[in-house]
Amino acid sequence: SESCSNCYRVVLIGEHGVGKSSLANIFAGVHDSVDSDCEVLGEDTYERTLMVDGESATIILLDMWDNKREGEWIRDHCMQVGDAYLIVYSITDRASFEKASELRIQLRRARQKEDIPIILVGNKSDLVRCREVSVAEGRACAVVFDCKFIETSAAVQHNVKELFEGIVRQVRLRRDSK
Ligand code: GDP
Ligand code: MG
Repeated sequence: SESCSNCYRVVLIGEHGVGKSSLANIFAGVHDSVDSDCEVLGEDTYERTLMVDGESATIILLDMWDNKREGEWIRDHCMQVGDAYLIVYSITDRASFEKASELRIQLRRARQKEDIPIILVGNKSDLVRCREVSVAEGRACAVVFDCKFIETSAAVQHNVKELFEGIVRQVRLRRDSK
């Protein structure tokens, strides 16, 4: 945005139930025992400043994709306002993985000619015995999507910090190449 050169609006998208809000809650630090420097800007918007590679970055995280109460316009809004996207699926739910592909296509259509940073996120990696999507499939999908890939577990807080650091790095890579 114009007002803040190192503030990034990051949008969570993906099928209902894949763990978007759980990831947002970890980001927001609701599980932190000590005071958190996260600001809650609304029921589904969180702001937090992180140090990544020795440089601070402020992420404004939007978790409103499933907000049916606000109507369908919210999804169009989400597709337009992100500086970066986390497309989340559950490794235990193949349909959510297929949905992720659809969302990637929709996003490309909505933001033609823009090189938007995206991370494909396979969440619920702790549920090993219910896995329906392999790591190799997730990785291959990200290659086709031309985006980064990570598996996370919101339940055991695995790779969640890495996810948010990763999206900051992706935005910076594009910024620095301009
Ligand atoms: P959303 O609809 O995408 O926002 O998904 P939620 O964050 O509400 O999560 C849906 C359900 O999946 C909840 O019952 C969560 O507790 C559960 N869940 C979310 N992330 C994980 C995870 O990494 N592992 C496991 N085992 N459960 C998860
Ligand atoms: Mg949710």
